[in-house]
Amino acid sequence: MEIIRIPVLADNYIFLMLDLDRKIAAVVDPAEAAPVLVELARHQVKLVAIFNTHHHGDHVGGNKELMVVFPDVCVYGGVEDRGRIPGQQVYLADGDRVQFGDQIGEVLFIPGHTRAHIAYYFPPVEINVPGELFCGDTIFAGGCGRLFEGTPAQMVGSMTKLRQLPDNTRIWCAHEYTLGNLKFAITVDPDNQELQQRLVDVTDARSNLIPTVPTFLGIEKRTNPFLRWDVAALQSSVASNDAIETFARIRGRKDQF
Ligand code: ZN
Ligand code: FE
Repeated sequence: MEIIRIPVLADNYIFLMLDLDRKIAAVVDPAEAAPVLVELARHQVKLVAIFNTHHHGDHVGGNKELMVVFPDVCVYGGVEDRGRIPGQQVYLADGDRVQFGDQIGEVLFIPGHTRAHIAYYFPPVEINVPGELFCGDTIFAGGCGRLFEGTPAQMVGSMTKLRQLPDNTRIWCAHEYTLGNLKFAITVDPDNQELQQRLVDVTDARSNLIPTVPTFLGIEKRTNPFLRWDVAALQSSVASNDAIETFARIRGRKDQF
């Protein structure tokens, strides 16, 4: 499976999964249709699936137009998003499976950013190949989504689920927010040497307009404060010894940053 990243709007990424043998594609969170249609034509593939992670406009904005061009496309989303995702046909719950070509994806229910948010995880199909996680606005490189409809406890539960995946899992998050996230991260985890280096590397990458997505779960576990609510340095930096309180305080500071 090949994955293509399409930058759209101010800082969104749309992801296109390609199966060139079968000449089919699936799209994750099509904010817009036009740039997706360009890539589909370029690769001469037919769109068979739209995988939505949540209902926000910058993730579903292209659904209807893609359905017009590809009337057989199947539109997936979370069961709790019923009524909020344009064209939704399949209502997914935690543990459900989706298929694309010969790939089987697992659905993870990860509320927090919204109450209905899901992720799609495609486990490795062979040894030494990474799994692929499409997590919408939940984990970002160096950060996490705002809590629009969920509580800190829910988000910690969702992050706990994601944190159990293998370290080499590739994380396809839906926004290029990495540099801003790391500038905040260093304020709550200033002595983390790997984070210091990452901030240098990402500053350099972004000054050359190089994308920082996908990221890997391993480096997120070591440098992303929103996966480190149980690390002593983070807890002392926000003066708490409670995991959920630590997460909530870090999220609160980021909201003000
Ligand atoms: Zn969102
Ligand atoms: Fe978004």
